[in-house]
Amino acid sequence: MMRHSGIRTGAAGILLALMMAFSSFAGPADEIVPADAPVQAVPQAEQVQQAQAPGSPVAEVPGAGGTDPAQAAADAAAMEAWQQAQAEAQAAQQAAADAAAMAAWQQAQAEALAAQQAAEAAQAAQAAQTVQQPQTGPLQQLGTRKLDPSKPMVALTFDDGPYAKVGNQIMDCAAKYNAKVTFYVVGDRVSTYKTEVRRMVNEGHEIGNHTYSHKILTKVGAAEIRSQIEKCNQAVENVTGVRPVTVRLPGGGKNSTVLANISQPIILWNLDTMDWKHRNAATSVQKVLGSVKDGDVILMHELYPASGEAACRLIPELTARGYQLVTVSELAKYRGGLNNNKVYYSFGR
Ligand code: ZN
Repeated sequence: MMRHSGIRTGAAGILLALMMAFSSFAGPADEIVPADAPVQAVPQAEQVQQAQAPGSPVAEVPGAGGTDPAQAAADAAAMEAWQQAQAEAQAAQQAAADAAAMAAWQQAQAEALAAQQAAEAAQAAQAAQTVQQPQTGPLQQLGTRKLDPSKPMVALTFDDGPYAKVGNQIMDCAAKYNAKVTFYVVGDRVSTYKTEVRRMVNEGHEIGNHTYSHKILTKVGAAEIRSQIEKCNQAVENVTGVRPVTVRLPGGGKNSTVLANISQPIILWNLDTMDWKHRNAATSVQKVLGSVKDGDVILMHELYPASGEAACRLIPELTARGYQLVTVSELAKYRGGLNNNKVYYSFGR
């Protein structure tokens, strides 16, 4: 009985011991698995740098074998260090991004400043172009020929034509030296000399307005002044397709009524050959060569053969002396430009 009881007592003791041992094992094991916190912290860190994530703390922590409190503490410390490293890497990356953004902003600022300076330079160049004073610098292309604004230029002008006999003589001589001249024509003569006036335009000479019937405009009223100018413009345009830009007043006569009723630039002269009076080629040549200078507007007349002869002596001689023989509009273009309703005598620098 005792033995039996002893056996039962012994069996119960073993069972109790087993139960106690089991419960002491299972209890601490439940408490050891704190894996959620570190695992959930990882995705945020992964956004920084997945490759640098030390996977070991995550893998080790939830493991069933992690029963050692010292090991758990070590794992937590490792996780904390890793999170610290991730935070520092993220901060460094943000700092680098900030620096790159600043550099890009500075670059954009520099480019904007350069663009603004270029625009201002272009605007200044445009303004200089508008003033039309290219007195120095490279050769200027104008039509099919080159002019050098830094070298002297003068304008030969011939009034009272067209008159084919003299006008063609002048154009023949001009063609040999690439010279261009200006013809101030009388409107009511234009239809008689269509071929000549068309040649003027075709060969690059300029046709100016010398009124329709050579009226002295100081002796007529406003309506007649306007009519004289408009009818001459129309006569030239009808034959050549080109409308005169500048006006020369017959006899040079002007007063306030004349100036108030002509809107185009008025071109008079500063070097008068008096060819209509003496009608001598040598005298005209002497008058020009004796006083010519850069920017001069030289007055002659197309009606006299002596004037054609004078032109054919002057063109080679002036060219040899370094003058460019240009139209009035060319001369004005390189010497300050033209304004409507203004009177010009010469275009010196
Ligand atoms: Zn005249």
